[in-house]
Amino acid sequence: MDVENTIEGIRNRIGKARRAGGTIGLVPTMGALHAGHRTLMAAGRAGCDYLVVSIFVNPTQFGPGEDYQAYPRTPAEDLAACEDAGADVVFAPGVGQMYPTEPLTTVSVSKLTETLCGRRRPGHLDGVCTVVAKLFNIVEPDRAWFGAKDYQQSVVVRRMVRDLNFPVEIVVEPTVREPDGLAVSSRNAYLTPEQRRQAPELYAALRAAENMITERQPPAEEIVAAVRGHISGKVVEGEIEYIQVVDPETLEDVETTDRPVVVALAVRLGKARLIDNVRVG
Ligand code: AMP
Repeated sequence: MDVENTIEGIRNRIGKARRAGGTIGLVPTMGALHAGHRTLMAAGRAGCDYLVVSIFVNPTQFGPGEDYQAYPRTPAEDLAACEDAGADVVFAPGVGQMYPTEPLTTVSVSKLTETLCGRRRPGHLDGVCTVVAKLFNIVEPDRAWFGAKDYQQSVVVRRMVRDLNFPVEIVVEPTVREPDGLAVSSRNAYLTPEQRRQAPELYAALRAAENMITERQPPAEEIVAAVRGHISGKVVEGEIEYIQVVDPETLEDVETTDRPVVVALAVRLGKARLIDNVRVG
């Protein structure tokens, strides 16, 4: 496995792989690699000839006061995980490589970003789209893999690709969970043992919502109230940021659940901001 820190270096390697006739795959990450990333890398390994994993903690997707500085960084373990997963090359640029001058250009998807996390983290999804667009221009992948845990991100990236005619296929893999149901996340490391014990109740609440919808399709507001009640009762230190029942494609709030929906939530628990979702129907 090779490691490249420069855009010129990664372009040279990818150019060679492409001239040899191979398809190029990209798994974009911010490092601190865990089982969720490993699933994306395994899918990537099976789905292309030359697999690029990018590791870049992207400053432009963190808001003021967010955890950019504190975000876990585990470079040695990450390279071992990429090697294990069979990546051909890791692209790990520094901030100066990705943003040598103050960027004056932003890729911004409207509407889809005005709800859920986008509404609570202004500029976050613009930062994501901009860095993903840059990575697509650098790597020129035929396919790229994303996780369903960041559901809104996957919808927004898909839309950016469609609107801007990026010649890349976006593949979304299901959320990987701990045995107790908690969605695996680099930010779970921020939880105290007691918070970690309560955190699986977020997914338990979503599962209960899923069962309600499957059994009797109640109004969306009943679902929101039930999820809120469950979390308020069982995640005592949790501060609910949002609980929404939305259309899987437009991400608009829905009133009824007799149709496919996504139930999504964000909860602050101590130093961690946890997100999760289930797609029903
Ligand atoms: P991150 O490093 O957190 O920016 O995530 C990189 C990619 O991994 C994104 O496409 C995430 O959606 C995906 N990802 C993060 N956590 C999980 C998980 N638990 N299951 C599946 N994919 C995940």
